[in-house]
Amino acid sequence: MINYNEILEKDELGRDEIRELLAMSFEDAKQLFKKANEVKEKYVDKKTYFRGLVELSNYCAKNCLYCGIRKDNHDLVRYIVSDEDVLKSVRFAWENNYASVVIQSGELQSPAFTKRISSLIAQIMEMTKGEIGITLSLGEQTLDVYKEWRELGARRYLLRIETSNRQLYAKLHPNDELHDYDRRLQALRDLREAGFQVGTGVMIGVPFQILEHLVDDIIFMRDFDIDMCGMGPYIEHRSTPLFKFSGSLLPLEERFFLTLKMIAVLRIIMKDINIAASTAMQASDKLGREKALYAGANIIMPNITPGVYRDFYKLYENKPCTDEQAEDCLNCIEARVTLAGDSVGWGEHGDSPHFKNRMNSDN
Ligand code: SF4
Repeated sequence: MINYNEILEKDELGRDEIRELLAMSFEDAKQLFKKANEVKEKYVDKKTYFRGLVELSNYCAKNCLYCGIRKDNHDLVRYIVSDEDVLKSVRFAWENNYASVVIQSGELQSPAFTKRISSLIAQIMEMTKGEIGITLSLGEQTLDVYKEWRELGARRYLLRIETSNRQLYAKLHPNDELHDYDRRLQALRDLREAGFQVGTGVMIGVPFQILEHLVDDIIFMRDFDIDMCGMGPYIEHRSTPLFKFSGSLLPLEERFFLTLKMIAVLRIIMKDINIAASTAMQASDKLGREKALYAGANIIMPNITPGVYRDFYKLYENKPCTDEQAEDCLNCIEARVTLAGDSVGWGEHGDSPHFKNRMNSDN
């Protein structure tokens, strides 16, 4: 019989122990979540930080096989939020003490796109007197572009690897230059070099994935020494090539449970990073984000995209809150955080303590 208590008391976890924890039953996993919650309290406090999420555009030059806004999906309305509406949304976040926003978009690498983002960062910094923290999630770009955005004031960048396993990556993406695994890794290294707090993450429960891949993912994030993580259960979208494998998937509640265990194990291993309770958690379980917060997550990204666009930014189906305005979300989210036993870090940037510790040890 496995002695989970003994594993959870260890200072460092090896591959075998990570696998044992990820394979825990529902009953046994209660002690894993409890331990992760204690680690969270000790290293990053029982505080949840808000990042107001602006889904800038669903135009994308890529064709990831799992994604609802992939270039070749013609079954949706494409949109671009105007600068004016972006600034209005950011102002809402700033005035409501969110302290940080995330600008997210499909991936475009044109000079016009780069220029527009640079201009938006500058306008946001000016409007908020540099008070609001900007996180970008705009895919792979060149090192020079990353440096430019960093110098203009953006401080964090999310670029999910989706899976750290090269063979699985090749099954989830078209095999061409635009979807190259090594290029993805280089982009993560470039973000680090440009001075960003770097976040990555994976999908859990995708077709062809086995438990060993998830063990690899945890080890990848540890070895890459990431500052932030956002991961969620894979939720299939019918207008994507991967949908034909839906019959082979674990039930959604099991994908959700596995994601909770991934969050908890990562919290125990990387004690001081920021971990997001993703929207996909809420889409899988009505109390999904609260459960993720209890299991070690400390970031929530309330959607502040103007309501009229929200229905069209669907990377997966059944996305929650697409018919609400930012104010509606604000009302329900604080109550949800309290339910998880946390308080809200109103007006605080909530930067990754891991990043600060990394910077101090580098100097
Ligand atoms: S996952 Fe990202 S890069 Fe891939 S198709 Fe979707 S939006 Fe584009």
